[in-house]
Amino acid sequence: RQPIHVIGGGLAGTEAAWQIARWGVPVILHEMRPQKQSPAHHTEHLAELVCSNSFGAQATDRASGLLHQELRQLGSVVIAQADRHQVPAGGALAVDRSIFSQTLTETLASHPLIELRRDEVTQMPATGIAVLTTGPLTSEALSADLQHFTGQAYMSFFDAASPIVVGESIDRDIAFMASRYDRGEAAYLNCPMNRQEYLQFWQALVQAEQADLKEFEQETAKFFEGCLPIEEMARRGEDTMRYGPLKPVGLFDARLGDFRDPANRSKKPYAVVQLRQEDKAGQLWNMVGFQTNLRWGEQKRVFRLIPGLQQAEFVRMGVMHRNTFINSPQLLQATLQFDRRPSLLAAGQLVGTEGYTAAAAGGWLAGTNAARLVLGQEPLTLPGTMMMGALFEFISSAEPKYFQPMPPNFGILPALPQKIKNKRERYGRYRDRSLADLSTWAGQHDLPLQSPALSAS
Ligand code: FAD
Repeated sequence: RQPIHVIGGGLAGTEAAWQIARWGVPVILHEMRPQKQSPAHHTEHLAELVCSNSFGAQATDRASGLLHQELRQLGSVVIAQADRHQVPAGGALAVDRSIFSQTLTETLASHPLIELRRDEVTQMPATGIAVLTTGPLTSEALSADLQHFTGQAYMSFFDAASPIVVGESIDRDIAFMASRYDRGEAAYLNCPMNRQEYLQFWQALVQAEQADLKEFEQETAKFFEGCLPIEEMARRGEDTMRYGPLKPVGLFDARLGDFRDPANRSKKPYAVVQLRQEDKAGQLWNMVGFQTNLRWGEQKRVFRLIPGLQQAEFVRMGVMHRNTFINSPQLLQATLQFDRRPSLLAAGQLVGTEGYTAAAAGGWLAGTNAARLVLGQEPLTLPGTMMMGALFEFISSAEPKYFQPMPPNFGILPALPQKIKNKRERYGRYRDRSLADLSTWAGQHDLPLQSPALSAS
């Protein structure tokens, strides 16, 4: 049998290579380190954790914990080793990063069907079955060739994402639906501020604490003047935001009366924060123009000062960092195959999922499907009620114009048939539905599941 080439030995590539070998198919895993280092990696090990050593909360009624559990049951090597080399971290699945990556390297390198090749791949594979998992810091040469393959407009090199808020956590007594000047359908949720609220918010923003940018990111950020962080805009002057994304013109709350009536004009807000719908179901809302470098805790504290967002539940915080990713909704299917060339698959940060566990999840599916292609079997699509399935459904069908990387979160799952107000209970139901559907789906496809012993936590 011809081997499958997996390009990039990070979280996604390690998982993909392992899954391919599990199906009895030979695999060549290409990793450019140590010959060529990325600006964030420090070792030569596979699946190196570039920053935090945490895979997120463990409880299965948390989005990351549910994803761990789905992967655990599906036989993920990354999660198995994370469980094995766990260190105490409150409720999080955190690992001894050095032993974790070293063990994964040894495990893969000693597998008879896996060849670990230390080389930089500079061109997209032209033939055969391959999985692309080169991550947010894909080397320059390959990025250029990938851009050629996908088309110029379908790749990004910088992630300037605004926070995303769960729709149910926005106070609709305060926020109102409207489009500017009432053009077209009312498409935005608008959080109005009076002068006092605006000034309080502005001051908090100016004083909030920034995250440290890595040296290579400071370089990239310089090229991004056109997309200023909201705190930088605030620093430029008290009113700068009111002439930018918080511009109040043409936005009226219909509940206050007909805005064409001059008597109602005085009800115009002093500033307005707009949120744009992020997903088809309208469960997620993106804060327009709020790309930011603030620390995550600071973002929550300051953004909850905005009227209507006092109880906001954030599924993704704002970020601005270097991140190579493709416009997956235009390019990929939910099986992680490219539309244009189904023998080429991709996973990890490169396809716009966010975080270590999501990368391993993509590696699981892309690896499994690559092996199935070799074996003449249909590629799999996961149920959309699973966290894994919902992630791949999202990245392959989101609105391409605004596509930004997405971490696992409950907002991307289809709503439950009944409304459950209590958050923990609601998330518990999502978990139960996901694991039940995983079990049925695995049965239908003859996939063995590992013991669900940890699922009840
Ligand atoms: P990676 O793990 O980066 O793996 C890609 C691999 O491909 C690398 O080993 C690289 O050397 C290799 N490669 C690149 N180009 C080539 C080539 N041409 N040929 C051969 N090999 C190649 N996520 C979190 O969950 N928590 C965090 O704390 C966190 N911090 C981050 C900090 C930084 C600075 C960055 C850039 C990202 C961070 N992320 C974090 C996101 C993180 O990158 C992903 O969660 C995860 O590493 C993605 O896995 P991946 O397999 O897609 O990419």
